[in-house]
Amino acid sequence: MPTLEIRNLHASVETTDGMKPILHGVNLSIGDGEIHAIMGPNGSGKSTTAYALAGHPKYRITEGQVFLDGEEITDMTPDERAQAGLFLAMQYPVEVPGVSVTNFLRTAKTAIDGEAPKLREWTKRVREATEALKVSPDFVKRDLNVGFSGGEKKRTEVLQMELLEPKVAILDETDSGLDVDALRVVSEGVNRVHERTGNSILLITHYSRILRYVKPDFVHVFAEGKIVLTGGPELADELEERGYDEYIEA
Ligand code: ADP
Ligand code: MG
Ligand code: MG
Repeated sequence: MPTLEIRNLHASVETTDGMKPILHGVNLSIGDGEIHAIMGPNGSGKSTTAYALAGHPKYRITEGQVFLDGEEITDMTPDERAQAGLFLAMQYPVEVPGVSVTNFLRTAKTAIDGEAPKLREWTKRVREATEALKVSPDFVKRDLNVGFSGGEKKRTEVLQMELLEPKVAILDETDSGLDVDALRVVSEGVNRVHERTGNSILLITHYSRILRYVKPDFVHVFAEGKIVLTGGPELADELEERGYDEYIEA
């Protein structure tokens, strides 16, 4: 049974001019512990896919179904999806003034598990995770994403994944805006969590760079609202070389 199964997903986004259809039949099946990469041109609907899967209120699923470990999550609230084991690292993480990273993490963990983590054990795990991600322990006292650099935001996303231990992690352009050193730290973090928890990962990216560090089992080309080609890891380098033009209708 696949961990994440997307069947014929159609979704629209709420705009000021009404609902705009963006996804036109996405099909994807991710097996237990697999890493899948989605690559594609800007504006093709990659982030829309991520938001539709996570249950963002502005992105409405109009047709199709999504299953997580065999359980249908299509009509679940974002909280219920998170409890079912889904996690989204957003392309543009939201700033939350007044809520510290540490309080946010503990609240999220409590909501997902249905009980608060034991304080001493939790404090230790947060400290270990921040050390591994090469951020100072004081970092978690700051307001979530407020004034964070691009690299700090992406590290915070990986920190969340490390501590929340989702079955399925969707990482939307977690590599964007990172220099080589930050990319390595973030990639190592993703790999560490993957190896420790055996999670499944959907890695959305525009460039093949991160795929040298985080090795996908499958690469999918996304264009104009759906997956148009699936291949192995070698496809990433071919795409980098040839670009996406051949997948876009004139
Ligand atoms: P990608 O992540 O592949 O770059 P997106 O999913 O962000 O693509 O966007 C796909 C299309 O949907 C684009 O044409 C974009 O302008 C449109 N879109 C996405 N979100 C919104 C929104 N909140 N309001 C209006 N249009 C949107
Ligand atoms: Mg694997
Ligand atoms: Mg995007």
